[in-house]
Amino acid sequence: MKVIVVGSSHGGYEAVRELLATHPDAEIQWYEKGDFVSFLSCGMQLYLEGVVKDVNNVRYATAEGMRAQGVHVFVQQEIASISPDKHEVHVKNLADGSERDESYDKLILSVGAVPVALPIPGNDLQNVYYMRGRDWAMKLKRATVEPTIKNVVVIGSGYIGIEAAEVFAKAGKNVTVVDILPRLLSVYLDKEFTSVLTDEMQANGIHAATGETVKEIVGKNGKVTKVVTDQAEYPAELVVEAVGVKPNTKWLADTLDLNSNGTIKTDDYQRTSQPDIFAVGDATKIKFAPTDKPAQIALATNGRRQGRYAVKNLTDAKNPTPAVSGSSALSVFDYHFASTGIKEGTADKFGVETQSVYVEDTYRPPFVPADQNPKVQFKLTFDPKDGRVLGAQIMSKADVTANMNVISLAIQQKLTVNDLAYADFFFQPGFDRPWNIINVAAQKAQRELDQK
Ligand SMILES: Cc1cc2nc3c(=O)[nH]c(=O)nc-3n(C[C@H](O)[C@H](O)[C@H](O)COP(=O)(O)OP(=O)(O)OC[C@H]3O[C@@H](n4cnc5c(N)ncnc54)[C@H](O)[C@@H]3O)c2cc1C
Repeated sequence: MKVIVVGSSHGGYEAVRELLATHPDAEIQWYEKGDFVSFLSCGMQLYLEGVVKDVNNVRYATAEGMRAQGVHVFVQQEIASISPDKHEVHVKNLADGSERDESYDKLILSVGAVPVALPIPGNDLQNVYYMRGRDWAMKLKRATVEPTIKNVVVIGSGYIGIEAAEVFAKAGKNVTVVDILPRLLSVYLDKEFTSVLTDEMQANGIHAATGETVKEIVGKNGKVTKVVTDQAEYPAELVVEAVGVKPNTKWLADTLDLNSNGTIKTDDYQRTSQPDIFAVGDATKIKFAPTDKPAQIALATNGRRQGRYAVKNLTDAKNPTPAVSGSSALSVFDYHFASTGIKEGTADKFGVETQSVYVEDTYRPPFVPADQNPKVQFKLTFDPKDGRVLGAQIMSKADVTANMNVISLAIQQKLTVNDLAYADFFFQPGFDRPWNIINVAAQKAQRELDQK
């Protein structure tokens, strides 16, 4: 069997690994149109802040390492089109300009997404950057130490924009984060959490310009000088646009069925509308466990899961990809937060009725000195009809983010607040309190539901 895998990031890498493990006799061809195999944007902040020194280490695999395992790796070679009837792809070699056709028995696409560019004047100026991929990583790194860059405006306050803001604030720049929405990180956290984080960012030199729409990026001699919103103007020698991603699928529109947002339509087995063509990762949707409906959730975890399941279903569609909860975590200066599933702030978007309880506790029992006993904030969101767990958020200066994995599992398993109220969690004063904060919140939710 000859399998062609397109894209060398999370989804593509996982598919190749699984092929090696479960189809040792397959001929595997792995294509990447960029000049670098397997760069991981997830590791960008660690590189930009100097934790990881070499940009070339921010990857899963090298071409040589994969070739040594028998994979035929093609770098700077783009799959330009697909002929499903002939089971062929058309390959453009970007290094030498040559072109050829390659046949396949199975084709796995993990072609990902690219950052959205705002359709505003000034977007094409130098010093308008994006935070995705190795080339931008290297440019951003240079900008962190460029003395002429004093003011940085980040447009978009999702986790990628906030990562960029923190990088430049730590590099000593004046940073403004502009977002059209009324709160920073509002897709991930409700306001009990974002108000604390906004203060934390302010204390670290980041100005939050929320509820503002960017109208124009103004420049002089080709370089950015300021960002103009509907309410104010911000000086800038660098702009980082982090307003979301769009699937890299325009070239597939005549070949595969796409969803209205441009993602490739797949079934639960990662199969596309054409036989023997599978698609995974940011270029697709994935089933969202709280609603049981497909949603666009651009996460490495999802890409890897789907890459694994595409291979599991390659010859026989027997294993539906498990639904996900859309969990993510981030540190913002001294705070660590994680969130999963549906929040109060996103319930409308998913068309779901929700009820939530919010609790605060200390990390450890009260006898532990205050300087080693930070506050923990936790919010549990559930279905008011039956108490089914739909989502949660947690934040503290202690790293309690792993609790969110319990909630993610609860969502996947369709557990209710009753299941969590007396779930047996360990206690040790170095780590937590006798009642885990999940128990505390679920018990509160139980009481509220009982009173109805
Ligand atoms: C700054 C940042 C931080 C992130 N942090 C996290 C995190 O902490 N946790 C998390 O879960 N997720 C994180 N993500 C999201 C995660 O990086 C994406 O979900 C993931 O990269 C998606 O993987 P993918 O395989 O679908 O596609 P991509 O990563 O988009 O890769 C697609 C690859 O395919 C190649 N390609 C495309 N078309 C072709 C073609 N026609 N021929 C040949 N090659 C082609 C591209 O060059 C690219 O290398 C982060 C993203 C960013 C930008």
